[in-house]
Amino acid sequence: MGEDRLAAGGRLSVAGDAEIRARLEALRAAVEAEETDTADSRAPVMLDQSSVGRLSRMDAMQMQAMAAAQSRRRATARARIAAALARLDAGTYGLCAKCEEEIEEARLAFDPATPLCLACARGDERA
Ligand SMILES: [Zn+2]
Repeated sequence: MGEDRLAAGGRLSVAGDAEIRARLEALRAAVEAEETDTADSRAPVMLDQSSVGRLSRMDAMQMQAMAAAQSRRRATARARIAAALARLDAGTYGLCAKCEEEIEEARLAFDPATPLCLACARGDERA
């Protein structure tokens, strides 16, 4: 299946579709595990005046804000991974989402969920 596409595109693939899928699913599992592990730190900050003063409550709120930001980053990561898996299903994996050129192999090896080629990622839109 995927071999025809790779042959047609002339792209030498070091990793087969199954291997790419496995890498993406491992990444997604890691992100989801991290999300579960840190769920507590995003709980609303409780007012506990008996044990914490104003400063530590501010610390807690700051920690919560950081945890929320990390959670948003993980949501973005999950979306990228889901999109990469969808491209794998559609047979368009490895093609830039913007210019539809092939994404550099080294780039995909570094980040298998990347949707853009190097030029597009850099904002180079000469085409
Ligand atoms: Zn591109």
